[in-house]
Amino acid sequence: MPVHNIQYKKLGFNRLFKDCSSQQVQCNLIENRFELPNFSYCQCCLHENNVKIINMKNSNKIQLCLILFLININIYSFSQIADSSRLNYNKLWGSALNANIQETLKILDTTKIVSEKEKKIKLQFENRFKYESDKTNYFLKSDTSLNPLNRVFQDYWRKSMLDNKTNYDKYFEKKLISFLKSENQKTKFANHKITRSTIIKEDYLAYIKSKGFYATNIGKTGNLYDLLAWKNETDTTYTILLINDTAEVHILMMKDFISLGWEEYATLGAAYPGGWTTSEKLFCVCQSYNLNSETFLVNYLSHEGQHFLDYKHFPKLSSNDMEYRAKLIELYLYNKELYNYINFFINNANYDKNNSHPYADYCLIRDMSRELFHTEFEKDMEKWKSISKDDIHKVAKYLFLKNTESLNQIGKKVKEFIK
Ligand SMILES: [Zn+2]
Repeated sequence: MPVHNIQYKKLGFNRLFKDCSSQQVQCNLIENRFELPNFSYCQCCLHENNVKIINMKNSNKIQLCLILFLININIYSFSQIADSSRLNYNKLWGSALNANIQETLKILDTTKIVSEKEKKIKLQFENRFKYESDKTNYFLKSDTSLNPLNRVFQDYWRKSMLDNKTNYDKYFEKKLISFLKSENQKTKFANHKITRSTIIKEDYLAYIKSKGFYATNIGKTGNLYDLLAWKNETDTTYTILLINDTAEVHILMMKDFISLGWEEYATLGAAYPGGWTTSEKLFCVCQSYNLNSETFLVNYLSHEGQHFLDYKHFPKLSSNDMEYRAKLIELYLYNKELYNYINFFINNANYDKNNSHPYADYCLIRDMSRELFHTEFEKDMEKWKSISKDDIHKVAKYLFLKNTESLNQIGKKVKEFIK
């Protein structure tokens, strides 16, 4: 079954990509993966040093993983305990992720705190935000060399989160420039005098590099300037065998984060970006994923791989069509998770052309239902489970090839096809 194999080409490479980190986007935008604008590859990936093959169909290494979105596992476990408590976790984390910490503290102050876990969360939030300064061990890092810069961000985040009415951006910019100026006088990391009144990204990244770290360029996540910095990274190209085609997915695996940004800070580490995209590649925060799971290999990598191919073959194709095709690939490749994802697609389906993921989910389940059950849209999971995985794979492949043939008949100019 060669079409079910995923080949890994691990490419040893370690450097700061000066331009690759310039288009950081929020983690939730990764859900809209069709937004990857241009899939040109870096010229750096020329040295192959390891090849692994994983057989998707028979591997028993693939583990159950229900994190469908790129949010840290902790937030999932926190939401699980929500049912048995009076603390509204959705509101709690929602207010923190909106950088509205006064609201977070109010929720904690006006809720009857019962369990030990809740007491711990309340205490941690209060230690972080209720006093003049952060009393948590936030700066207790394995490598403290980036702490001085981290303090500039942390001070600005704290001020902004505790006082939503004031914009602290100018305050932060001035502080960062004066920090870089003073550090440059000491260590000459920039090789020139820093005198400008605006933040120069090259100076900023040069400072971080001089401390042995990688980082995204200076920029904002939502309304706040953000710091995402990590110690180790591996540049990897996955060669993925899809239906009658092969996709190369270029992905940077990042490890040992010293800061995962203000969202991590605001939620005491419960939520943070799982990754982001640039025009060159995918950036993956390794700790967000089980790298052997089908969620990573199929829902993330193979899905993106199909987007890469479609962008090349049909550059004008709509996101609705791109999602439809990438999700057919998912159905063709899932093994252990197959019925879970069918259930997810059924629940997420919505025939709304303006929303590509739910729209593609609807078209996908509708077309599969027509073939498998001769019904318009089958919601009954028991009926789906009565069909073997092999038969579902075959129908997904059939629909994918039929769709490819139709797109090929129209040619490169094709924009929209599914209805
Ligand atoms: Zn997609």
